[in-house]
Amino acid sequence: MSSLPLVGVSACLLGQSVRYDGRDKYTALICDELKQYCRLLAVCPEVEIGLGVPRAKIQLTQVGTSIKVLQMPELRRDVSADLQNFAIEFIKQHDLSALVLQDKSPSCGVGNTKLYSPSGEEIGLSSGLFAATIMEVFPDIQIVQASQLQTSEDIVQFVKKLETK
Ligand code: SF4
Repeated sequence: MSSLPLVGVSACLLGQSVRYDGRDKYTALICDELKQYCRLLAVCPEVEIGLGVPRAKIQLTQVGTSIKVLQMPELRRDVSADLQNFAIEFIKQHDLSALVLQDKSPSCGVGNTKLYSPSGEEIGLSSGLFAATIMEVFPDIQIVQASQLQTSEDIVQFVKKLETK
């Protein structure tokens, strides 16, 4: 078995056409350079919970004291519990060293995802619920956003941190 660390990666960053609009977010640096140092495990939480491609958009919505992930149209479907349960099962099933997740996503974003009121006004920024659940339940797992890996040196520094863990 390979001794390279296992890193979970948002599937869209690896070129999989899993975004709500059927497109991807292929990122050459992650696909080509990170894979020289790590085994990459693609994950799209929204597809994994059965939302399909293409799909109606989901968004982070402040409901009372909770942040929910609700699906358009009219925020009728609440997928929060599905995303939370999937996050926990995913981490339990895989011996991950870290995750590299797509920015600004209501599932994968870390601190940079738009948060809305129930009436649709932007009221701030928060974390996607897949990422937020992992940070809360498994705080030792390192999560970085794709925007933090912009250069070959960023990749090397990220991998060094995995090796010193
Ligand atoms: S950001 Fe996350 S949930 Fe959205 S398409 Fe990419 S992997 Fe799927």
